[in-house]
Amino acid sequence: MIIQPKTRGFICTTAHPEGCAQQVQRQIDYVQTQPAIEGPRNVLVIGASTGYGLASRIVSSFAAGANTIGVYFDKAAEGARTASAGWYNSAAFEEAAAAAGRKSYSIVGDAFSDEIKAKTIDLIRTELGKIDLVVYSVASPRRTHPKTGETFSSVIKPLGGTYSNKTVNFHSGEVTQATIEPATEDELRQTIAVMGGEDWQMWIDELQQAGVLADGATTVAYSYIGPEITHAVYREGTIGAAKNDLEATAQRLNKQLGESGGRAFVSVNKALVTQSSSAIPVVPLYISALYKVMKEKGIHEGCIEQMYRLFSERLYGEGETPVDEKGLIRVDDWEMRPEIQAEVAKLWADLTTENVYDLSDLEGYRREFFQLFGFETDGIDYEADVNPEVNIPNLR
Ligand code: NAD
Repeated sequence: MIIQPKTRGFICTTAHPEGCAQQVQRQIDYVQTQPAIEGPRNVLVIGASTGYGLASRIVSSFAAGANTIGVYFDKAAEGARTASAGWYNSAAFEEAAAAAGRKSYSIVGDAFSDEIKAKTIDLIRTELGKIDLVVYSVASPRRTHPKTGETFSSVIKPLGGTYSNKTVNFHSGEVTQATIEPATEDELRQTIAVMGGEDWQMWIDELQQAGVLADGATTVAYSYIGPEITHAVYREGTIGAAKNDLEATAQRLNKQLGESGGRAFVSVNKALVTQSSSAIPVVPLYISALYKVMKEKGIHEGCIEQMYRLFSERLYGEGETPVDEKGLIRVDDWEMRPEIQAEVAKLWADLTTENVYDLSDLEGYRREFFQLFGFETDGIDYEADVNPEVNIPNLR
């Protein structure tokens, strides 16, 4: 089958197996040029197939030499439909991990369900014994509550008032004004239920009760703060409220795990092109301006560089893990430098459809978006026939 990108809005409905494999290999290659990390031995990554979760899994395996279990929600190829990018990424990851002599297993299904938690616990028991790091990196538009059966949907909306700012269609380069009406109380409640900390807490409770968390285990989940221009729609909006709940959960988990020498953190990461962030209005234009400034200054990072720095300098660096006054790990520190933010704000004021490719790195954004699905990757022949059916070696 010849696989070309097919887009619908901010999603791409096809993925290229060889391109995805190459993107995973690029991340592995980066990690292997860095010093090894004295870190975790057995790692569970929930939300492991793309973005920050995939990069966390690669760092665990290829910088720390750990065995990993990845839990994720991806689809295999079927008929004329390709598999999702996360499926191809995970297949490539597992093959490379096996070649390097590390154990790795995949569980594909709904991480929010009791069934997938129970299945994961069984797998840990039979294959790894105990886990000493749990990475929680799920980003989802929906969650069905395992006890009540209620299905919640998350929305990205401001609270209290209407928000209006520039946004871009990153396919066409058209810069327009996005106006978003405030969320209702119920939309806020549902967004917190999807993207807040309840499911993370459930995972840790169940792993602990089952006796599969090692003493001294660490857990980390990811958050975002970002610039003033997106505050009303992000940090002070519905998603920000969910992130506040996630951060409060980290404090509770830190006490809970602290009783046996363990730790829980939220790491605030940099804004990057991922399937989740491309769905947020305003953010792709901000990321394009940010990339321009950070690339010019030589301090641009992708998911893998961010996660390597998180593991090597923060979670498993020398001494105590450095945190800010709220107890948060900040690997968004380079993004948030005042001089970077001042330059982005200056560009932001001038951005229009006419100058967007000059004043921002929109072309870099667009290319990275397609690379998430294995397209626009050097060395891949997109006219060649490829088999879309790829097996994940250790799928349970
Ligand atoms: P992503 O979309 O690339 O990855 C999400 C992962 O969650 C995928 O592996 C997917 O399979 C998995 N997933 C989704 N629903 C699931 C379900 N029901 N069961 C099991 N797995 C499921 O997202 P990302 O951007 O890497 O985001 C991960 C975390 O990082 C989020 O908490 C996000 O808020 C945070 N973060 C993202 C950015 C950014 O700019 N992308 C910045 C800072 C923090």
